[in-house]
Amino acid sequence: MEEVNDRFIILKSVDVGEKNKKLSLFCEKLGKVFAIGRGVRSQKAKLKFLTLPFCVCDATLFKTGSIYLVKTAKVIHSFMALTQVQEKFDSGNIILETLLKFDNLNNIHFNKAISILEYIENVDKNEILFAFKFLIDLLYTNFNLNFSCCNICGNMKAQKLYLNFQTGELECENCIEKNVVQIKHSTVELLDKIANMDLEQIVLLNIENEIIKSIKLFLNKLIKGLIEIDLNTLKK
Ligand SMILES: [Zn+2]
Repeated sequence: MEEVNDRFIILKSVDVGEKNKKLSLFCEKLGKVFAIGRGVRSQKAKLKFLTLPFCVCDATLFKTGSIYLVKTAKVIHSFMALTQVQEKFDSGNIILETLLKFDNLNNIHFNKAISILEYIENVDKNEILFAFKFLIDLLYTNFNLNFSCCNICGNMKAQKLYLNFQTGELECENCIEKNVVQIKHSTVELLDKIANMDLEQIVLLNIENEIIKSIKLFLNKLIKGLIEIDLNTLKK
């Protein structure tokens, strides 16, 4: 059996058998893997914390076939605040969902995700924009998004704009195909702005509640949409 020391964040966990959990982990070195937390649901389990969302641990993992076993683990950051405030929880969840959907993630994505979760934990405003920033950064890296016009015909004054999450392009109503979500002009402008901003600047943004609401809706649709497609086709 192969033994690895790694740091991970728990993206998702499902109950297996009476006391076990199957964990979707995003590891700093290994990337995304499945692991079993043996007995972690029993009252006196040492590794009980493996049932908590957002938990970041340093651990020793054993590889058995295509899956890992968590041998030992120590909590580095529990992100408790994220589970106690709805806005923070929703925003943190968008980060986890995003990580679940994308393949080929590396340690740069890992460290970025952790630092954005730290921001979400510590700020008391615009939490959703940090989740937005993370998703947009990923889309940027994968697709070279261009926000200034319809990416297909070049129309700069399209009435309606859509983001195609299969190709990563912004499209007008004349060019849309499948796999798109409509995106308001105000959201596109904000997207463009946020994509070029540092995290410190995002805290200071003053955004109307209505726009925040529409961003939330857009992110949820986008993430749901990502489920429908084979993410390996995303890479150009
Ligand atoms: Zn067009």
